[in-house]
This record gives sequence, C-alpha cells and structure tokens, in this order.
Amino acid sequence: MKKYDYLIVGAGLYGAAFAERAAAAGKRVLVIDRRGTIGGNVYTEKIAGIHVHKYGAHIFHTNDDRVWKYVQRFARFNNFINTPVANYKGEIYSLPFNMFTFNKMWGVVTPQEAEAEIARQRQAAGITEPANLEEQAISLVGTDIYEKLIKDYTEKQWGRECRELPAFIIKRLPVRLTYNNNYFNANYQGIPIGGYTKMVEKMLSGIEVRLGVDYLGAREAYEGLAERIIYTGPIDEYFGYCLGALQYRSVRFENELLDTDNFQGNAVVNYTDAETPWTRIIEHKWFEFGKDEDGNDLPKTVISREYSSEWKVGDEPYYPVNDELNGALYEKYRQLGEAEFASKGVIFGGRLGQYRYFDMDQVIAAALAKAEELLNK
Ligand code: UDP
Repeated sequence: MKKYDYLIVGAGLYGAAFAERAAAAGKRVLVIDRRGTIGGNVYTEKIAGIHVHKYGAHIFHTNDDRVWKYVQRFARFNNFINTPVANYKGEIYSLPFNMFTFNKMWGVVTPQEAEAEIARQRQAAGITEPANLEEQAISLVGTDIYEKLIKDYTEKQWGRECRELPAFIIKRLPVRLTYNNNYFNANYQGIPIGGYTKMVEKMLSGIEVRLGVDYLGAREAYEGLAERIIYTGPIDEYFGYCLGALQYRSVRFENELLDTDNFQGNAVVNYTDAETPWTRIIEHKWFEFGKDEDGNDLPKTVISREYSSEWKVGDEPYYPVNDELNGALYEKYRQLGEAEFASKGVIFGGRLGQYRYFDMDQVIAAALAKAEELLNK
C-alpha cells in the first residue's frame, strides 16, 4: 500500500481546495509545490502593513453560492468592490463600460442617448456577426471606446492584434446602461481579510505540505508515493512539451514601497494607451480601504506596475492564450492527460493544468466537483 492516497502537485487554489476536501474525507494527503510559498498566484505578502498581491491583483467574485459558502469557512471577506479606472493619455474613464464612461466619452446623459451612439458606431463599422475581439468590442461599445480603452490595452496585455484574439475575452467585461461601475456582475465580491495566504493556510491546516519541491525534477520518488496524483502545473510542461509548447502570457511586476499615503486614489488604474509600457498599476492598500487590520490608516503605500510579455520556457505562466491554435494543441495534451489518468491515476486541474482562463471561483468550483467525483467513489 502506498503512503498517501493523494499527492497534490501545486498549493494554489485548485490544489488547496482539493486537498482540503480529500483530507476531510479521511484521505491521506501530501501537497507539494516548487515555490517556497503556498497559494500559487493568489499569494499575498505583508509589506508595511499592506497585503501585497505578489502575483497580480486578485479580487474574489462569484455567483456560485456553493463556492461563496465554501470560502467563508477559511476567511472573512471585506466588502471591496472593484471599480477600476482607465487612464488614456491622462484622460480618466470609468470602467467597466457604463453610463459614466459614455458620458465622459460622448457627453451623453441618458441610457437612450448612449445606446443610440453605440448603435450608430456599430452600424458604421458594418459589424453584424463579431468574429474576433475587435469586432466583438466595437459591436458592444462602438469604435471610440474600442480605440481609446480597449485596442492598445488588449494588444499590450496579449501581444497580439485584437483581430487575432477570441471574442470571449472582451465578454468578461460588463457593458451597462446604468451608472454602476462595479467591474463584476457578481452576487458576492470581496477580499479575504488578512490576505489570501492566510486563507489558503487555513484550507491546508493539518495537511502535510512540502515546499520548494519540484515534482517534475523528482518524479520517480514522488510518483510511487501516492495512489493518485492531482497535477496543477502546466499540462504541456508535465509532458515535456512533447507536442510543442502551449502559449501563455507572463507578467512582470515592478513593486515600489512609497513614502506617501495615497499614490493614485484607487486600487486599479489601467493604462489604455500604447505609449505607456505597463498595462496597469495596482495600489494594494485600497483593496483594504487603506487600513490595517486594527482599522488604522496606513502611512505608506505599495504599488505594482504590470508589464505583460510572451511566456518562454523558464518564465512564470499567467494567462493561457485560448485561441484556436492553442485550443487544438491543448486538446491533444488533454487526451494524453486522459491516458495518464488511466495508466497512472494522474488528474490535471486548475488554470495551468486545464489551460483555461479560469477565475478563482471557477478554479474552486472545478476542484470541488472533481473532489466530489473522486472521493465519493
Ligand atoms: N480590457 C480592455 N481594457 C481595459 C480592461 C480590460 O480592453 O481597460 C480587455 C482586455 O482585452 C483584457 C480583457 O478585457 O484582456 C479582460 O480583462 P480582465 O480585467 O478581466 O483581465 P484580468 O484582470 O484577468 O487580467
């Protein structure tokens, strides 16, 4: 008999949620991660009293009652609502696209006027069936907004022309004919008080975790340890890129601790012009209303500039590029993954294991569903 029922490779949200469920079902569980930290990319680190989102801003939002109830067990959430602003060459616009945005762009005041202007621009562009991100964007909000708030930002973030990107990416953003600048259409939203790391620590409490262990470098030793393996790293890396590498976007963060209490007046400011080399600046303290856990104002601030780049072997992968080419290649890896399950009991999960632009709640939902499927047998 093997020492563990489940070896979980990756201590991110998928791995942590699955581990928590498996341990709760009485399974013997070992979690390993090649980083020296838990939480994967939701990892937060406290700097000058501020929980800094070290791998990019994470704002928890969901419509899934079950997921919301589940995460409440591991953290209390504050009532942060994401209301990012766009900075286009010094002009400030409200996001997502709503009546404040339309008013600033065109001077329109009523929803009818805004709708008419969008329809006019859509017709002028001659788009009936949007086939890519550019056409989808113009069809949703018209050419002016596409040019100022979408085109350059998207091309910086993805390193590809909007015409070459799938339409679904822009459909992540709501378009509203109301004065509501909540970035998400979600029933529940917030940031775990005390940081994400603390939340994941709680999910993993009582579970054996080994950090700084690279599974792929020590495969033989670890493979034999468990009946089943949950692998949450990149699926193409697992298979040694034998069919070629999937494409990812990577992000580099330039973090600064500043001796000022307020740098930009908002948690997220997107720079939507082509000239600014970063895509956005995050000012982390505003995720917690500028206060520490005792409610005191924080005298300093930490900001992160995000620079997007094409991933190459050795970089951290952040975003799968879910276009047709990569979709077809992933499908082949997925089939290899199924064979690996049949022969070795390996299951691939999470944003990297399933090569999907998952949000946090979707990752947790996927892990809970997989746990239910496997553990109830
Ligand atoms: N987007 C944009 N302008 C913005 C913000 C977003 O054009 O100011 C587009 C861009 O294509 C981006 C997509 O909307 O890739 C999804 O944005 P989201 O904020 O969901 O991306 P994430 O926070 O996951 O990086």
